[in-house]
Amino acid sequence: TVPEPTPELCTKALEGLHLALEELQVAHEELQVQQEALVEKHHQVLLSHQRYQDLFDFSPEGALVTDGSGVILAANQALVHLIGVPQHWLVGKPLATFVPLDERRLFRHWLHQVRQGAHTNRRDIYLQRRDRACLPVTLSVRQCQPPYENELWWAVQDRRDRHAAEVTLQMAQHQLEQKVQERTAALSQANQRLEAEIRARQQAEQRLEFQAQQEQLLQAMAQRIRSSLELDQVLAATVEEIQQLLQVDRVLVLRFQADGTKVVATEAIADCCLSLLAQTFHEPCLRDQLIEHYGQPGLRAIADIFAADLKPCLVETLNQLDVRALLVVPILPQATPTEGTSCPEQIWGLLIAHHCHTARPWHDHEQTLLLRLATQVGIAIQQSALHTETQRLAVVDDLTQVANRRQFDAYFHKMWRQHLRDQTPLALIMADIDFFKAYNDTYGHQGGDRCLRTIANSLEQQVKRPQDLVARYGGEEFAIVLPQTGLAGAESLAATCLADIQSLNLPHSSAPLGVLTLSFGVASLVPTVDQRGETLVQLADQALYNAKSRGRNQVVTWPIAP
Ligand code: GH3
Ligand code: MG
Ligand code: MG
Repeated sequence: TVPEPTPELCTKALEGLHLALEELQVAHEELQVQQEALVEKHHQVLLSHQRYQDLFDFSPEGALVTDGSGVILAANQALVHLIGVPQHWLVGKPLATFVPLDERRLFRHWLHQVRQGAHTNRRDIYLQRRDRACLPVTLSVRQCQPPYENELWWAVQDRRDRHAAEVTLQMAQHQLEQKVQERTAALSQANQRLEAEIRARQQAEQRLEFQAQQEQLLQAMAQRIRSSLELDQVLAATVEEIQQLLQVDRVLVLRFQADGTKVVATEAIADCCLSLLAQTFHEPCLRDQLIEHYGQPGLRAIADIFAADLKPCLVETLNQLDVRALLVVPILPQATPTEGTSCPEQIWGLLIAHHCHTARPWHDHEQTLLLRLATQVGIAIQQSALHTETQRLAVVDDLTQVANRRQFDAYFHKMWRQHLRDQTPLALIMADIDFFKAYNDTYGHQGGDRCLRTIANSLEQQVKRPQDLVARYGGEEFAIVLPQTGLAGAESLAATCLADIQSLNLPHSSAPLGVLTLSFGVASLVPTVDQRGETLVQLADQALYNAKSRGRNQVVTWPIAP
């Protein structure tokens, strides 16, 4: 039930209403203050947003916002200007679209790293403009603050100036490097020229030294040839000196023999080389390939057997001997050799220098040396042959070609002394043609000479031991020296000689038997100090005299049987 309104009650209620109204008024004022503050704040936020937007829009550097996958959400004017693409084309496209194809994979990888929170948030890359030109830029990226943490902020800095400066710098650097290189090249060329000059000078010096050595060698060799008639010695010294001077592995003299084979007559070898001394070759390629090159006998220099125009058989032979390069000169025995004029048949042998295992180009002076030495060897051969012939003539009887009286005397006395020392028997046979004066008278002197040759030949045929010596003692008389021979042996040989001459049946019309015969006197002695060599000659002579007086055509020994 509602109480009856009383004035007191009404007054109280009015007071209460009045109070509530006042409170409401206060609250309303507070709200008004709050609203004003809010409006102020909103206004400030709008201002701040506008400032930011202005900053974004009018920033001189390019700026853009993408979502987490790099799709462009917003781009500023500067960027539009940089890339040359209208803003509405940019928005909604992945930023990667503007990265050149060859850098795109790297860019995506970077984007991925950025989203993973990688530190590297700055990078120099290229962006492709609408006109396809590549624009060098520096990209900086940052993740936005909440509540936009899924977005990325990008700053795009034009790097063209820096790039141009870098390119200029690089060019300058390149030019500098080129200049340095040119200078270095010029210097090294100058250096090379200098080195070449030094080398040339050294080579000239070496050549001079070599020439001096060569002259010395040639002089020494000429001297040796003058002083020594021993060909073997001359050849041995020659190959030895060539080997030393040319520093080759092997030098040899290959001598051609009558049967067509070739034998290594002498050689000089380096330590490592295998010896070919006395080795015989039946190489048919040698003559064609090494001597008659281009149809002319002359020097042949082969720097490498595998590169030279040689027949396989020769290459094979040389290869087996480890030879890789060689110099070959024919040796022509002649007193005054003139190059190229001798026919190959005159070739005595070859002077050869071998270089083993590696190829070797031969210098001109080396070739000249070998040619000159081969000429010297030719002279030595000629001289040696002359000497041998002279020596032979000095001891051989011109008419009969058996030993002459001078050789008989020398040999007989040498044997006498030897047998005196050894106390062994020395035998001597003296033989004289019967009725030879009459033979000459009948058949003339030339017939007599022919007969003498026949007899000498017959006697020579009967002696078998190398120490036995048949000599023409004088006129139609022959002597046979028989070392280490007793009387019986000597008598037997004399009988054989007589029988051989009888068997020849040489007609002698003025002789009692009508054929040519010989008488033989034989003696043998063990020499004693009180005897002289002449004793044995006298004894053999006495026996011969006895054979004559007993009717000729027989053998009589001393002591003479009654
Ligand atoms: P005998 O049987 O006694 O030996 O008589 P013979 O006639 O052979 O001896 P003799 O000593 O009387 O004559 C030797 C002759 O030999 C004299 C000489 O005419 C000859 N005679 C010597 N040397 C040569 C020569 O080199 N050639 C030629 N054809 N005859 C020569
Ligand atoms: Mg006589
Ligand atoms: Mg006589």
